[in-house]
Amino acid sequence: MHHFDPSKEIMDHLVFGEYGGVNPSITDSSTYTFLSPEKMKELFEHEIEGCFLYSRHWNPTNKNLADALARLEDTEAAIVTSSGMAAIASAILQICSTGDEIISSRTIYGGTYALFKNFLPKLGINTKFVSINDFDAIRNNITDKTKIIYTEAVSNPLLEVADLPRLSEIANENNLKLIVDNTFSPISITPVHHGAHVVIHSLTKFINGTSDCVAGCVCSSKEFISELTDINSGASMLLGPVLDSFRAASILKNLHTLHIRIAKHSTNAMYVAEQTEKLGIKVYYPGLPSHSGHKLMNDLMNEGFGYGGMLAVDAVDEQTADKLMEKMQREKVGYLAVSLGYFKTLFSSPGHSTSSEIPKEEQKAMGLSEGLVRISIGLDNDIKETFGRIEKCYSEVGLIK
Ligand SMILES: *Cc1c(COP(=O)(O)O)cnc(C)c1O
Repeated sequence: MHHFDPSKEIMDHLVFGEYGGVNPSITDSSTYTFLSPEKMKELFEHEIEGCFLYSRHWNPTNKNLADALARLEDTEAAIVTSSGMAAIASAILQICSTGDEIISSRTIYGGTYALFKNFLPKLGINTKFVSINDFDAIRNNITDKTKIIYTEAVSNPLLEVADLPRLSEIANENNLKLIVDNTFSPISITPVHHGAHVVIHSLTKFINGTSDCVAGCVCSSKEFISELTDINSGASMLLGPVLDSFRAASILKNLHTLHIRIAKHSTNAMYVAEQTEKLGIKVYYPGLPSHSGHKLMNDLMNEGFGYGGMLAVDAVDEQTADKLMEKMQREKVGYLAVSLGYFKTLFSSPGHSTSSEIPKEEQKAMGLSEGLVRISIGLDNDIKETFGRIEKCYSEVGLIK
């Protein structure tokens, strides 16, 4: 357990708005005036603190959000992007050239899997997928072309916990970058404290928390963030996945309640996981001693935010899973929808939605059951009452007698 409180880091560095507004002002401009041509020339040569050129490069509102995210992740710097996928694609393309290789966890977000498996080979960048805590497999797959070890801190959808200290050791021994997608465990795990070099989030999920926009970020060293935003060679600058400043402003406000929301999501998810397990139904939740990543999560997590809001229930087969989700929607437990981190419970069947990019044989190899239902638990005030309705659904679909 780590004694680090990211919420304090964020709260201690608030930026005032114009006229002393308690929230920073929103910059509603794509371009910025210069007092002299010399100053403009200088900015094209190197960054000048507090000086802005064009909003695809940097925007003051996006900078405020990026700085807050760097504090959340305890990194030197960060950038925000128009989606989580844009953050992943930019980071990978900044590091890899044609011929380079990635070693990736096989249990990753379906979109990331499809990017690595189907898209990057078009650029001559190939990925070897491994079971992420199989360190021998990782070592055996490293070649002189390998540039990256890629993993999610807590994986989608089985909530496997990556052994970040061990992965970091392997990465450092071989001069590789360890990239960690921390979307499932914001605030509860701080990957750089365990040796990650680059941390990525889909802000779309828990960090924003209101399912009203798509956004992402990359948190890393000053050096790497400067590379990404370099006017002549930066992936985020040149591929152009810029976040709108109005969205950045609203995400920043939501970020300030993240610690309260994650703690509540965690309490609720823990209750549902424990009760579901007691009924004899297979459930994956890192807070349960029965989960393969429980001990590791205890070692890695920051104190006070719990084990997160995601869990997966094995409804055995596809038909039962479908019936369960329909019933839970009818009982107003939540919505049948992809995505996560919303204040209301969301559920979907990964094998046929968010992980459908992964071939069936590989889904099987990674232990992804046909009947798996991934649940993002909401902020219900009375989770016992909600669970009463979930239990009724379990019973009606025949998961319990
Ligand atoms: C949603 C998600 C992404 C992709 O983020 P977008 O904001 O949808 O582009 C990447 N990784 C994980 C773990 C996700 O859940």
